[in-house]
Amino acid sequence: MLDGKCVFCRIIKGEIPSAKVYEDEKMCVFKDLEPKAKVHLLAVPKTHFKLLSEVGGSEAEILSYMLTKIPQIAADNGCTNGYRLIINQGDDAGQTVFHLHIHILGGEKLSDF
Ligand code: 5GP
Ligand code: ZN
Repeated sequence: MLDGKCVFCRIIKGEIPSAKVYEDEKMCVFKDLEPKAKVHLLAVPKTHFKLLSEVGGSEAEILSYMLTKIPQIAADNGCTNGYRLIINQGDDAGQTVFHLHIHILGGEKLSDF
């Protein structure tokens, strides 16, 4: 379920310190080490999927679960006027950590992209 060499699995297990802002049995949310916005959180499932494309049909419930939780977590952490969600999938998108995660960016007016 978790991968001993994966940095986000190690954060989930508490082996690597992180600033966690939310945790339940299915997901964990912590502050990005190198924030790209005033608020920059990473929402991570507690199952190790390398890529979005690895989430099978029977496992896809985790995605709707996370998307349902994120609005309250974002609001609780200073995204009161909107936020942006990003999933970087693969090399062309610049994915650097191969454990599926959703970036939550906000806390300020974000630039267009
Ligand atoms: P990706 O480029 O894969 O979509 O995003 C990976 C994100 O994870 C980056 O924004 C990077 O700053 C963040 N990150 C990488 N290693 C760590 C870490 O050890 N702790 C935390 N909190 N964030 C990390
Ligand atoms: Zn992992």
